[in-house]
Amino acid sequence: MAHKVSLLPGDGIGPEVTNAMKLCVEATGVKIDWEVCEVGEKSIAKHGTPLTEGVLESIRRNKTAIKGPITTPIGKGFRSVNVQLRQALDLYACVRPCFYYEGTKTPIKNVNLVIFRENTEDLYAGIEFDKGTTECERLRQMINEMSVKKIREGSAISIKPISGEASKRIVRAAFEYAVKNGRKKITAVHKANIMKFSDGLFLKSAQEVAKEYEGRVEFNDCIVDNMCMQLVQSTSLYDMLVLPNLYGDIVSDLCAGLIGGLGIASGANYGDEIALFEPVHGSAPKYVGQNKVNPTATILSSVLMLKHLKEDSAALRLENAVRAVLKEGKDVTYDLKASRNDPSAVGTLQMAEAICKKI
Ligand code: NAD
Repeated sequence: MAHKVSLLPGDGIGPEVTNAMKLCVEATGVKIDWEVCEVGEKSIAKHGTPLTEGVLESIRRNKTAIKGPITTPIGKGFRSVNVQLRQALDLYACVRPCFYYEGTKTPIKNVNLVIFRENTEDLYAGIEFDKGTTECERLRQMINEMSVKKIREGSAISIKPISGEASKRIVRAAFEYAVKNGRKKITAVHKANIMKFSDGLFLKSAQEVAKEYEGRVEFNDCIVDNMCMQLVQSTSLYDMLVLPNLYGDIVSDLCAGLIGGLGIASGANYGDEIALFEPVHGSAPKYVGQNKVNPTATILSSVLMLKHLKEDSAALRLENAVRAVLKEGKDVTYDLKASRNDPSAVGTLQMAEAICKKI
């Protein structure tokens, strides 16, 4: 029977990379019944909002979705659809595998890391008060009464909520992944030396969960600024990282850089029942409609989707086909060539077709 999957092509280069991904998934022989959902700019034009309840219903019904990037219009009052999807569907675990593939341009070889980022709270919770508003002034005065540290007049305020419950949930998800996938060590990343209460709670929660896995998975912690340096200088010391939302966002992109950039980096967002797969990159407006960008990140995201659908053999064949094309370095997009102007670079669709031939 065909798997039902919600497909959100998204904005900019989204339709091109998701189309390339669809070709590759279909070439594995796995039957998918794609339910295509409009989000982003097309949805704004039609429905006045970038994310309709109908799209959320489709994902809730199918429980599996894959999406292209979605543009966040700046200064038009729309919140990021990506953040809305994660919060509305309680997709609390953002998982980013960072694996080295031969043929990619990387500063370091053999990176093999898996990142678990908490997806629902922290400074991403969207609790913000703009400078000059009544609410912001009331909050500022309240805080100034309660705290020895004072907030300057004319400030904007963003709130960083971190709960023990959400922290334990993401750390447990990371440990469960480690056990299932034979990973050896988890490092909790934080800034608890400065944010003693919020990051302190994240660290304490991580330590508590780690105790349940003692003897099975090693655990340590690292302060986020030191972690960034360590990841560049001593990557091989780390196996899996678990982080609150904001550090997770930044460190994942750092690690995307370590494996050859945004064209390669894949991602997944998991809740207890729903999973949403997506490339890490954005909608790259300057390349829209040019059949130019790298489809690998979206295709590798579909490898994660196939694993989630328990189509392990298809996932392995597709990943190996991507690996072979990257290693050969012939039928690859401009960003994977030694020079960005290399005339032998192929288009998005042609790279996908080369991958299909190797499945
Ligand atoms: P971007 O990822 O679109 O582009 C950054 C750089 O990477 C650009 O030079 C771009 O051309 C290049 N690039 C991106 N994807 C590529 C690919 N597949 N192959 C080759 N090169 C690629 O980031 P941005 O310019 O900061 O953001 C553009 C829009 O995308 C914004 O509206 C932003 O909000 C949105 N965005 C969405 C997501 C998402 O939907 N998950 C993620 C990031 C950014």
